Amino acid sequence: MSIEVKTHTALHVLKGAVQRVLGAKWTAGVHVEDSHGRLTVKIDRRPTDDEIALVEEETNRKIREDAPVEELEMDKAEAEERFGDAIYDLFPVPSSVKKLKILYIKDWNVNACKERHTRSTGEIGGIRLIKVRFRPSKGLLEISFDVYPHKPSGIEL
Ligand SMILES: [Zn+2]
Repeated sequence: MSIEVKTHTALHVLKGAVQRVLGAKWTAGVHVEDSHGRLTVKIDRRPTDDEIALVEEETNRKIREDAPVEELEMDKAEAEERFGDAIYDLFPVPSSVKKLKILYIKDWNVNACKERHTRSTGEIGGIRLIKVRFRPSKGLLEISFDVYPHKPSGIEL
């Protein structure tokens, strides 16, 4: 499995944590390059250092939990009825699209997404936040992270 599949899946786990800790509902942008990822969300205030630390902690907790990552495929109308607008981001799905692929991590993140994903959160390994930038004029928070592999047990790295 390519590292970018892990990095992309990590975006969903991170988004779940960001939504819980900061109440940020809307994703404005995502970027993946190798083991590096960046999630941009709409928010109207600068988070505290404690909140950022908690976002990282909650993301890694969900990864350690090794929760199933499901890919559902359903009619757009059915998906909207079941999940509401939570499946959408600020970049719209074209109106011509009638069937949606839905990324589903139970009680954590649900999102219309046609990218490839790991089968469980544990396969991601772990993440480390490397830079957080708040842009007050745009009301955007950019969270950059790296995915790192599991440490082999018993070996100090
Ligand atoms: Zn996805």
